[in-house]
Amino acid sequence: MEKLVEYFRAQSDAMTALLQQLVMLESPTTHKAAVDRLGAFLAEQARGLGAEVSLVRQERVGDHVVAHWGRGDGQVLFLCHMDTVWEVGTLATRPLRLADGRLYGPGAYDMKGGIAIALSALGGLRALDRWPALPITLLITTDEERGSRTSRELIETEARRSRLVLCMEPALSNGALKTQRKGTALFRVTAWGRAAHAGADHEKGINAIEELAHQVLALQRMTDYHNGTTVSVGRIEGGTRSNVVPDKAWAWVDLRVSTRAEGERMNRAIHNLQPVLPGARLEISGGLNRLPMERNELMVQTFAWAQSVAARIGFTLREGATGGGSDANFTAALNIPTLDGLGAVGDGAHAVNEHVLLASLPERTALVAALLLAAHEFNWDRG
Ligand SMILES: [Zn+2]
Repeated sequence: MEKLVEYFRAQSDAMTALLQQLVMLESPTTHKAAVDRLGAFLAEQARGLGAEVSLVRQERVGDHVVAHWGRGDGQVLFLCHMDTVWEVGTLATRPLRLADGRLYGPGAYDMKGGIAIALSALGGLRALDRWPALPITLLITTDEERGSRTSRELIETEARRSRLVLCMEPALSNGALKTQRKGTALFRVTAWGRAAHAGADHEKGINAIEELAHQVLALQRMTDYHNGTTVSVGRIEGGTRSNVVPDKAWAWVDLRVSTRAEGERMNRAIHNLQPVLPGARLEISGGLNRLPMERNELMVQTFAWAQSVAARIGFTLREGATGGGSDANFTAALNIPTLDGLGAVGDGAHAVNEHVLLASLPERTALVAALLLAAHEFNWDRG
C-alpha cells in the first residue's frame, strides 16, 4: 500500500496534463453540444482503461456517461458530474493558468479534479496490475449543477447495486471529507384576507400583508443554529395599490436541516402555521427536495473505515460538514455507504479564483486507489 503514494507522485505530470485537458473542454450544464464533447473524451478515456461504456442519451442536457468494469451487485460506484457553472467562453477571458503549484480554471475544482483523480486511480491500478476484485462503475452525469433532474434516477439505480459510493466532489479546505450535508426545502406561504377601500371601509378589510407579516416573524423565529436548522424568508409579494386593503400576500421560504427527523418536524410545523387575524386564511405548499446527508451510525462507520485505509498509506484523514447539497445526498439517503469530498483539494468553487492544489492530485489518487483495493473488506454493521 505504501508504494501507491510513491507511484502516483511519479505520475504527477500526467495527472496535471489530464486535468488541463478536462478544463479546456468547457462544459456548462446548459450547453449540450459542449458537454457532449467532454463526454466523448471521457468515454474514450474509460474505454482505454478497459471499461464497457454506454451513454444515457438526453435531449436538453449532455448525455450521462456510464462506464462498467465487470457487472453484479456489490460494486463500487464513482459518482462524478462533468457539468460546471461556467459558460463557454469563460476560458477566453480567464485562461487556464498554472502558478504557485495551483491550477486555475473554470470547473477545475468542482469537479474536474475529481474526475481526473478517479481516472488516474483506475489507470494506475491497471498499470500496476493490481485491479480490484469488485465490479466498478464510473458514473459521470451532466446536470448536477442544476439539481440532477435527469440523472437522479440513474444515480439511485446504480447506488442500489453498490456496496460503496465514492463521490468525487471537491474536498473541504484541509482535505477533509464531507460526512454531513444539510437537506434543503422550499415553501410558499400565501396569506388570504379581504379587500376593502383603505379609507371608506378600512374596518371591513382583512389585511393579507399584515397577516403575512405575523407569519414571517413566526417563520424566522423557527431558526435554531444549535440544531443546524435555518429558516429564511427570501422573497415576499402582495397587495395591489396603496388605497386597497390587500386580500393576498405570499412569501418564499428556504429551510435547511441537518437530520431527516428535523426535516419532517419542520415540514409539519410550517404546514401547521395558523392565521393570526380573525377571518384570515393561510395556504402553504412545498416541502423537502434533498434529504440531508446525515452523520449517522452508517456514515461514522464508513468514514472510520476510510480513515483506517488512509492511515495504511500514511495519511491522516479528517471530516467536516457543509450546508450545500450534492448527489451524495441521494445515495446516503438510500443507506448506501457513501464517502463524499474525495476530489481535489483547492478552493473557489463557483468563484473566479477557482483552483486545485496540484500536490493534492497524486495524494488523493493514492487514497482512492487504496480505497478501491480495500473495498472488498468493508462490511458495515447493520445491527
Ligand atoms: Zn460539484
